[in-house]
Amino acid sequence: MAVNEKTKFLFITGGVVSSLGKGIASASIGLLLKSRGLKLTILKLDPYINVDPGTLSPYQHGEVYVTHDGAETDLDLGHYERFIDEDMTKKNNATTGQIYYSVIEKERRGDYLGKTVQVIPHITDEIKNRIRQAGKEDILYDVVIVEVGGTVGDIESLPFLEAIRQMCLEVGHENSLNIHLTLVPFIKAAGEFKTKPTQHSVMRLREIGLQPDILLCRCETHLDEESKRKIGLFCNVPRSAVIEARDVDSIYKVPLIFEEGGVGDTIVQKLKLNAVKPDLTKWRAFVERQSRPEANVKIAICGKYVDLKDSYKSIIESFVHAGVANNARVDLEWLDSEEIENDGIEKQFDGVSGILIPGGFGTRGIEGKIAAAKYAREHSIPYFGICLGMQVAIIDFARNVCNMKAANGAEFSPHTEYPVVDLMEEQKHVSEMGGTMRLGAYVCKIRRGTRTYDIYGEDVITERHRHRYEINNLFVEELEKKGMIATGVNPETNLVEIIELKNHPWYLGVQFHPELKSRVLRPHPLFREFVKAALEYHRNRQKAVES
Ligand code: GLN
Repeated sequence: MAVNEKTKFLFITGGVVSSLGKGIASASIGLLLKSRGLKLTILKLDPYINVDPGTLSPYQHGEVYVTHDGAETDLDLGHYERFIDEDMTKKNNATTGQIYYSVIEKERRGDYLGKTVQVIPHITDEIKNRIRQAGKEDILYDVVIVEVGGTVGDIESLPFLEAIRQMCLEVGHENSLNIHLTLVPFIKAAGEFKTKPTQHSVMRLREIGLQPDILLCRCETHLDEESKRKIGLFCNVPRSAVIEARDVDSIYKVPLIFEEGGVGDTIVQKLKLNAVKPDLTKWRAFVERQSRPEANVKIAICGKYVDLKDSYKSIIESFVHAGVANNARVDLEWLDSEEIENDGIEKQFDGVSGILIPGGFGTRGIEGKIAAAKYAREHSIPYFGICLGMQVAIIDFARNVCNMKAANGAEFSPHTEYPVVDLMEEQKHVSEMGGTMRLGAYVCKIRRGTRTYDIYGEDVITERHRHRYEINNLFVEELEKKGMIATGVNPETNLVEIIELKNHPWYLGVQFHPELKSRVLRPHPLFREFVKAALEYHRNRQKAVES
């Protein structure tokens, strides 16, 4: 049972404009509550009709975050996991598509006994069910945080807001809280903050029967006392609950800003939570270390969506965590793999101390990625291939070391003589796109006496997947003979999950997505060691230049 009559519900909505950082705000509030000894989970409600973001283009949606139990979810779930250090499940993200899907299924089964099926009450009831079922079944939560996607005033989020209104009434005001994240712009010409957009946004909320209890005011700099007083007065919120959410240079400072503004204490008081004194010592130490790096290192990421940084959100954050663990700042250099194809490689990698090729789909830019893997291999530059990045490393090695000139992946060349990366048997008959990849966590057995083993220090690990293609076991023996060894294998299916190069300072490929398991205070070992190797490469190169 995830909730009972003692569970409190905290709803977070956004106003004025999108991209105010509602996901980070929700995750930060989660951290503040967790640091007070409370059990909580966070549910993201997404207003779009897609069942999940798995079928959405990165141009539309950014990263698809895969949970341990194999759900393809919104990237905000990545923030939740990184901030509160708890695994999310498929029950932590609900879309309008899922809500309607299940209502329509019930209707077809005849569950509604001849009634007309309507938005109110059937869709809103389904939303309330999803809120009550959020998180893990075997945990009883003190608080369920619900983040509503979209901006107040959008047509598509109305059923969610109506469901929240009903829920607040049902559980009572002492057990529910509404937090509204809003924008308070500073108008330079007038030299002052403007509170009207916030007043209007709150007005829209109140029209649908929701009165915010706390206002988080996103602003560029310190919000003056007079503006806070005015916002409180016109939005019907006590001055102490009008809290500044000013811009900061690291998302990991947001919980600290919120704590400073009294968000944690206000929530605890209003919901009468049984909380202990917050302990943010480790978090503060992380932020402190992040702001004082002792070294910088440049790592190149070669991908297809390099202009859309949201597609690589978890990788970017993994580098922040791994950088701090190494007392360094990782500067990411984004390289378009198509440009590598057209422009030659040498000058692209000038000054780079590590190369990462992330996951990806489709043929565009693939030869540029293979060339990058080759370049790293031949120039002893630390290389980290993730999913597609491991597949291209194998294609390069087969072509250029094992002399299989026509080697390719079946995704890029379906009839190649050497399909070193091929479709899994179960995937050959799949016709639907949604939710049909190899998804979620699988175990992997690590070979002792390898770099991979040194990094993990464990015989068996679990990592999350999202792909259709696999290393073709027919070619593994040949690859191993020439020095590319399979260091991690799935014990049930015998599929190769990790490879490394023997004669290279640091060259590793993984079929899974380690970036999905990096946490702020528990950086992923692969990223941590990759950054360490890049720092070493950087130092050695500097020494060589100086001597
Ligand atoms: N396109 C490749 C596959 O489906 C790699 C997927 C990925 O990198 N996530 O196997």
